[in-house]
Amino acid sequence: MLSKTGSYPAYSGLSTYYVPSSPKSRNEAIALASLRGYNKNPPDCQRERPETTMDARKVYIETYGCQMNLADTELIVGLLKPHGYQPTQVAAQADVILLNTCAIREHAEERVLSRLGELVRHKTRRPGVLLGLTGCMAQHHRERLLDKAPFLDLVLGPDAYRTLPALLAQEDKDEPLVSVRLDRDETYADITPARGEGVRAWVTAMRGCDKFCTFCIVPYVRGRERSVPLAALLAQVRELAAQGYKEVVYLGQTVNAYRDGDRDFADLLRRTAEVDGIERIRFTSPHPADMSGQVIEAMATCPKVAPYLHLPLQAASNRVLARMERGYTVEQYAALVERLRAAVPGLALSSDIIVGFPGEEESDFRATYDFMAEVRYDSAFMFKYSAREGTKAYKWGETLAEEEKGRRLQEIITLQERISADINQQTVGQTVDVLVEGPAKRQQGWLAGKSGQFKTVVFPSTGTRPGDVVPVRVVSATAHTLVGEA
Ligand code: SAM
Ligand code: SF4
Repeated sequence: MLSKTGSYPAYSGLSTYYVPSSPKSRNEAIALASLRGYNKNPPDCQRERPETTMDARKVYIETYGCQMNLADTELIVGLLKPHGYQPTQVAAQADVILLNTCAIREHAEERVLSRLGELVRHKTRRPGVLLGLTGCMAQHHRERLLDKAPFLDLVLGPDAYRTLPALLAQEDKDEPLVSVRLDRDETYADITPARGEGVRAWVTAMRGCDKFCTFCIVPYVRGRERSVPLAALLAQVRELAAQGYKEVVYLGQTVNAYRDGDRDFADLLRRTAEVDGIERIRFTSPHPADMSGQVIEAMATCPKVAPYLHLPLQAASNRVLARMERGYTVEQYAALVERLRAAVPGLALSSDIIVGFPGEEESDFRATYDFMAEVRYDSAFMFKYSAREGTKAYKWGETLAEEEKGRRLQEIITLQERISADINQQTVGQTVDVLVEGPAKRQQGWLAGKSGQFKTVVFPSTGTRPGDVVPVRVVSATAHTLVGEA
C-alpha cells in the first residue's frame, strides 16, 4: 500500500482573545466601507425590513469552498440553535452574519474580502449586528484579517466553532474576538448538524489532514487528521434514515484514512450499509495513497456503495507528483484505477487536476493531458495553481505566467468536456436507477435526481416523489446531464 505522512508545525497555542483596536479606527472603517460603494442598493430580497418579532435571534451564513465547509455551516447552525438562534436566508434580517470561508485558492479569499465589504453596511444601518468570518480563511490569516477588515467582530477557525455561542453571549462586544486554536481532538461528534431538507445528507467522518502536499494549505488551517468515532457516525446515520434521508455522503480531506481503533474506512462502509432506509453511500475525497484493498473490496461487495469515485490525481508527471509530495507515482495511480475498474463494473471516476504547479514544464503538462485522455474521467475539477503562503511550494515562487496557466487550464477543460459528453452519450438507450431529488431547475414539470454514477438525470415527472429510486431510460445526453424518460 502506498502511504505518506508529513510533519506538522507546532500548534499556534492561541485561544480566544481580544484584539485591541482603537474604537476610532474601527468605527471609521465601518463608516468608510459603507461610503465606498459598499452600500449600493441590495437586491430586493435583501432589503432591510423592520423586525416584526424579537423571539429568536437570527444568523445568516454564506458558505464558500468545498462540501466540508457546507457541512461545517450545518454544524454551526446546529451549535447555535439550542442557544436561541434561527437561520435566515436574508442578511438584512440577521443579528449575526457569518462568512464560512475557504483558503484553498487566492481567488476564493479575494471574493470573501469583497463580499465582507458589501455586508458591512448591515452594521452601519443596524448597530448591534455582528459580522464574523469563520473557517479556513479565518485560520489562515487570523488577526491579520483585522488589518484588511477592521470592522470584523469575530474571526473563528474550524476547530473553534464550539466557542461561538459563548462569544455571542458576551456582553462586551466592542473589540473583535479571535478564536483560532487548532485542536487535535475536536470532531464535534456530539453536535447534531442542522441539515436542510433533501434526500442526501453530508456526514463528516474525519477532519484535518496529515498529508502536507506541498501546494496545499489544508493541513495548516484544518489541523491534524482525526476521525469521528464509528458508533457516533452510525448513530447519526440511523437518525438520518429515520428522518427520511436516503443517501449518506461521508466527508473528509482524506476520508479513506478513516480510523477508529482497529476499525477502518471499509468497516465504516460495511456497517453503514446495514442501516435500513439508507439506499446509497458515497464518500469524498479519498486519497489514492490510502485506497486499501479492503476499501475496494467493500465498494465491490456492498450494493449500497455507489459506483462512483472522486480520486484526485493532481498531475500525471512523476516529476511534478514528487514535488507535490503526493505519495504515489503515475504508474501506481494508473494501476489503482485499473484495479478499481476491474472490481467495480461501471465505476464512474472523477478527479482534481492542478495546472501550472511551480516547475511544471510543457512536457509535464502534456503528460497530464495525455493521461486524462487515456483514463477518461467522467468529470474533473480543474484548477490553476494558486500559491498559498505557508505551504512548501509557496517558497518556490511561480514559474509560469498567469496567461500560460490559463492556456493549459483551457486545454484540459476542452478535453474533459469532450470526454464527459462522449461517455454520457454512450449511456443513451440504457436504463439507470435515479434517486429522485426534486423538481428540475430548468424544465417545468420535470424531476431531477442522480444516478448511482452521480450523474444528474432529468426526466418528465410521472408522479414519483423525492426519495424514490426509479428506473429512467436515457434518451439524450450532454457533458453534464442525462435526459431520460421514466
Ligand atoms: N484531500 C483531497 C486530495 O488530496 O485528494 C483534496 C482536497 S482539496 C480541498 C481539493 C482540491 O483543491 C485538491 O485536490 C486540489 O486539486 C485543489 N487545490 C488544493 N490546493 C490548491 C492550490 N494551492 N492551487 C490550486 N488548487 C489547489
Ligand atoms: Fe491533504 Fe488533500 Fe491538501 Fe493533500 S491536497 S494536503 S491530501 S487536503
